[in-house]
Amino acid sequence: MGRDNKMSLTMKVLVGMGLGIALGLAINLSGLNQPGGVVQQWFVDGLFLVAGKMFVNALKMLVVPLVFFSLICGVCGIGDIRVLGRVGGRSFMLYLLTTAIAIATAIAIAASAGIGSGMNQVSEASFTAKAAPPLSEVLIAIIPTNPIGAMARGDMLPIIFFSILLGVSILMVGRKARPVVVGAEIANEIMMKMVTLVMAVAPYAVFALIARSMANLGLELLAQLAGYVVVLVGALLLHLFVTLMLVLKVFSGLSPRLFLRKIRNAQVFAFSTASSNATIPVTYRTVTERMGVDSSVASFTIPFGATINMDGTAIMQGVATVFIANVYNVDLGLGGYLTVILMSVLASIGTAGVPGVGLIMLSMVFTQVGLPIEGIGLILGVDRLMDMIRTAVNVSGDAVVTCIVAKSEGKLDEAVYNDPEAGQLLVDEAVRLDEEAEAELARTVEAVRK
Ligand code: ASP
Repeated sequence: MGRDNKMSLTMKVLVGMGLGIALGLAINLSGLNQPGGVVQQWFVDGLFLVAGKMFVNALKMLVVPLVFFSLICGVCGIGDIRVLGRVGGRSFMLYLLTTAIAIATAIAIAASAGIGSGMNQVSEASFTAKAAPPLSEVLIAIIPTNPIGAMARGDMLPIIFFSILLGVSILMVGRKARPVVVGAEIANEIMMKMVTLVMAVAPYAVFALIARSMANLGLELLAQLAGYVVVLVGALLLHLFVTLMLVLKVFSGLSPRLFLRKIRNAQVFAFSTASSNATIPVTYRTVTERMGVDSSVASFTIPFGATINMDGTAIMQGVATVFIANVYNVDLGLGGYLTVILMSVLASIGTAGVPGVGLIMLSMVFTQVGLPIEGIGLILGVDRLMDMIRTAVNVSGDAVVTCIVAKSEGKLDEAVYNDPEAGQLLVDEAVRLDEEAEAELARTVEAVRK
């Protein structure tokens, strides 16, 4: 095994990310990102686009079967419907709580920094709001009329609902259904193997994704909106490193230092894809294999969190509301801000973790408190980069709540959590067949030939 192969995958992904940032910025700053230019056409919108999109597709491809099989195994593994109710209730409360804290601190920070005041210019960029679904519709849509349809569309809440109900029914049928449970367990293991296969190409894909984003980002805009960007990034980092880590420590007693070290991989995937949903396979692998959370808990809390828990997005909404209110000289007052908090928390439940969805939620909040929707046009230019950062915070929140709930249920293996190396993938490991599996494969092929 060469030296290179001993490098952990996380390390290699981080290197890919660093190189991607450097190359992308170089392209952006040197003006090579002009439309029609060779670099833009062949690399940024060619190679990087194709490689990045293929990788994101591969991640998304894993989500539905992984959630489906792991939830069936999870429900059958718990074996007690009351425990399932408890896991659901606790994670729901914690998700709401962390989101509410997130947006409240964001508003407080942004308001005391006074961002946007005196900036009366109107942006050229225009934003047309897409409607966010009303709560009644969200509730109705939890029950799928056609489970296959929900899976085909990748609608997370109906898939979760159907899989849980299926798991419960399997449990109730009892012994006769045992082969189905075993089948689901095998299918789950196969899906996890597929996750490691896809992750093996992550360093290159992350490089392509980030290089493209950075090359396309309007850096001048970043400077123009410096107040907004600095306060938003500050609030996001504060939430990640202080609030969430305090919540983790207080509710579970687990080490924040180890958590931050192990969550890095999922954060990088979230950062490069800007989608909590697409990151589900990596977050799930991280909490189960790196942090020791039993899959019976993680199979539920991770997809659930990716759909309803968006701390980072809520923070963006808080900061953006204060910013736009100041730009347009609107005084929202305490009542207005309380409405913003409530709306953001509710909006995060109804919208899925996909790129850019935060803006849709923001337009819903603005309508409610009477801020001009076209104000969103002002922050549009920097939203992609902000989306990347807030998505990393979103998935970190999902993992924190998962650890807390697992610990409270006695479903967290602390020996695994406390082992810094546990579950770490080495670069060549993901694609390696172990000798036993290889021999087995050879025997099977031989048998088929005969
Ligand atoms: N991209 C975010 C996520 O997937 C949602 C958003 O803030 O737009 O979690």
